[in-house]
Amino acid sequence: MRWTERRREMLAAMGVRLFESPAEPPPAAADPARALVGGAPQAQQGRDDIGTMDWPALRAAVAGCRACGLCESRRQTVFGVGNEQARLMIIGEAPGEQEDLQGEPFVGQAGKLLDNMLRAIGMTRGEGPPAHQVFITNTLKCRPPRNRNPEPAETARCAPYLTRQIELVRPRLLLAMGRFAAQSLLATDEPIGRLRGRVHRWRDTPVVVTYHPAYLLRTLADKARAWDDLCLAASILEQGSA
Ligand code: URA
Repeated sequence: MRWTERRREMLAAMGVRLFESPAEPPPAAADPARALVGGAPQAQQGRDDIGTMDWPALRAAVAGCRACGLCESRRQTVFGVGNEQARLMIIGEAPGEQEDLQGEPFVGQAGKLLDNMLRAIGMTRGEGPPAHQVFITNTLKCRPPRNRNPEPAETARCAPYLTRQIELVRPRLLLAMGRFAAQSLLATDEPIGRLRGRVHRWRDTPVVVTYHPAYLLRTLADKARAWDDLCLAASILEQGSA
């Protein structure tokens, strides 16, 4: 990646170090067989056809989903946005109020920070060359009432959709943002502070874990760590061989 002077100045002003040369990522840590999204819950739900759907069918299935109680309170489902063949796929937690209103993930304050973070590593959610576009989605496709935490049963019911999205995008790298995305993707209850900073695997796909942008808005001290995580993600994308 070439750092423009403007970007260097901006990052220096944020107090974050620049990603220079790719470091060898540490070995994978998680046991993919335990992964919620890649594992058994999908079959248990009796909705195996999700695993063979193409994009239009999957979009329609999500839009009409009534698999859990969240369908009662949502305004609309939030499927995901971006390049359907993105090299980088970002997974957040669940739609919030703005996302529920607009039908697109990460459009509130946390989304603005996410867009800025992506821009700092030369990526976007829609503009520019396709190779620089990401795909963004959430663990849950419906907003939990009053933005409460997702419940395990809701995550399990929604998991087949995320699994199929990952299978269709076939990204080079998954970036899990926040505890819920990371823990459900990797089937672990390890805290985020222990999951970040190394490379995990979802099936064969490398996974980098970082803090949720909404958390970073409240906890400026962890912004530099999030920047380190983005540098790790950028190095894996540049190597193309993680
Ligand atoms: N937080 C998330 O995790 N996802 C969104 O889409 C918005 C806020």
